[in-house]
Amino acid sequence: MASPRFAFLNGSIVPWDQAQVHIASVGFRFGTGVFEGIRAYWNEDQQQLHVWQLAEHLQRLIYSQRFMRFERIFQPDYVAEQLIALLQANEFRETLHIMATSFISGPGLPQALGPVDLAIAASPSKRPQSRTQGCRVQVSAWQRVADAAMPMRVKCNANYQNGRLASVQALADGYDTALMLNSRGKVAEGPGMCFFLFRDGQAITPTVTNDILESITRRTVITLLQEHLEVPVVERDIDRSELVAAEEAFFCGTAWEVTPVVEIDRLPVGEGVPGPRVMALQGLFLDLAEGRSELYPAWRTPVYGD
Ligand code: PMP
Repeated sequence: MASPRFAFLNGSIVPWDQAQVHIASVGFRFGTGVFEGIRAYWNEDQQQLHVWQLAEHLQRLIYSQRFMRFERIFQPDYVAEQLIALLQANEFRETLHIMATSFISGPGLPQALGPVDLAIAASPSKRPQSRTQGCRVQVSAWQRVADAAMPMRVKCNANYQNGRLASVQALADGYDTALMLNSRGKVAEGPGMCFFLFRDGQAITPTVTNDILESITRRTVITLLQEHLEVPVVERDIDRSELVAAEEAFFCGTAWEVTPVVEIDRLPVGEGVPGPRVMALQGLFLDLAEGRSELYPAWRTPVYGD
């Protein structure tokens, strides 16, 4: 696939190939960066590209930057303006995945607080087959890092090495992805997505104090389940042994959207096919994200026109 034409780095829109970072930078050496993965959805009928839940992502980016004590904090208005300008410059007319990263761009020690730079890269993103067919999951032998060690609540680049261990092992063992337990042995999340199961008419998901990212999609899904699908949602610890009792299950996140989980540790979840409640939720979610539903207009930021 051809590269996009432009990226954003160091205050300006630059040709894609010139968006480069020095090998001596603290961001490169130690993973000292925080980021947001964001989606923009193309609506062919409206000839419009909508950035999905931009304000929510940029608010979380503020939290991550402050947590890292970066000496420069990129504010939501500034990042939003640059991000929209970048999408316009590329004249994208397709669904995208966007990464906005605030990172230490100069040389230094791991404890450096600056200089801080902002990078934005957007590229076309196709929906994988797992969205409709579901995914087969391995409960990972790798533990989710604990909040007191390396908080997953902070969307720091370096955190993603923990999920990588789980993903690589799951793929090597013939699964599609992993589900991670925390240091207490309770269900936490997937490498880059949150987890829900259905049991006895309820949707159950780990609380945000189970060593997970405070996911925007998780919050959205809770609203949609409660207010539109009339499914009560319970946030509580989930034991590993409960996975076998799940009638349906799914992962959710910006990249994963709403993805059915059809098998865990080679045991089918429910009937072993995407369940009706998960697929109804997925349909509702995509209608909103792709701009076919007019509900929650604040969640969609149009890129073109006024
Ligand atoms: N957990 C982790 C570790 C993630 O990286 C992500 C993706 N950002 C999620 C959960 C889902 O979060 P969100 O819905 O905000 O994309």
